[in-house]
Amino acid sequence: MPELPEVEIAARRIARASAGARVESALAPGMVTMKSFDPPLDALAGAVLEQVGRRGKLFVLGFGELALVVHLMSAGRLQLWDKRASLRDRASRLLLRLEDGRELRLREFGTQQRAWAKLLPAVGVEEDEAVAALGPEAWPAPGAAELAAAIDQPRHLHPLLRDQRTIAGIGRSWVDEVLWTARLSPFRKGSELNSQEVERLRQAIDSRLGGALEHYEQVIGDTVPDKLPMPLEVHRRSGEPCPRCGTRIEAIHFKDYVLCYCPEEQTGGRVLKDRRLSRLLK
Ligand SMILES: [Zn+2]
Repeated sequence: MPELPEVEIAARRIARASAGARVESALAPGMVTMKSFDPPLDALAGAVLEQVGRRGKLFVLGFGELALVVHLMSAGRLQLWDKRASLRDRASRLLLRLEDGRELRLREFGTQQRAWAKLLPAVGVEEDEAVAALGPEAWPAPGAAELAAAIDQPRHLHPLLRDQRTIAGIGRSWVDEVLWTARLSPFRKGSELNSQEVERLRQAIDSRLGGALEHYEQVIGDTVPDKLPMPLEVHRRSGEPCPRCGTRIEAIHFKDYVLCYCPEEQTGGRVLKDRRLSRLLK
């Protein structure tokens, strides 16, 4: 699941390899991928890829007067390939064929088509509803006052920090790491944190997302692999000892994600009820 560090490293690698490349043609084999129709995708033919940036978990590719905004959702990848895709590749959602023979390809694993893209006038990106709704960037982390204002909501930290309108870039993997690093319960409410706790959270967001990016810079070469070597310490590690205190990492299973935490350091020693288990036991 690509979150801010994974999208950022992909954007940096695509920029390094293909900035200045000219698009020969663009097509969208994914029937529902393009969420915009004016300008048409054909308008990218002949355009030069000038910038590869990011806003939250969205890619923003700049082609002069046009910009392509891409959201990978949970199973998409945006990668540069040396050769063109077979049109039978059912994972292809969007293909940007470059004049030099390479191809920038949006692919999506699984059967669902959820990844999407919009082609917009570059001046309209900030006003686009998907971009305009985003909260402050998670990395580099906002200042203490800005973060305190963003999370001043009576909602649990786990869903609150994953809400892109609150802060942009954190998802199901990094939220576990950030809360563990800050020693905060996923069930504390944002509005309940005192200023020291907000600062701990701010530093945890900055160090974990920034640390992941530094890690990727060292281990990832020109090609970003499908599965990134995410430097996770507690996420998906339930049953293993906490790397800091040795307590068993616990998990709570929700419908489409798992929350992991250290009971000793985050929830006052309490092991919280796993809703999946309690449902099974009924
Ligand atoms: Zn611990």
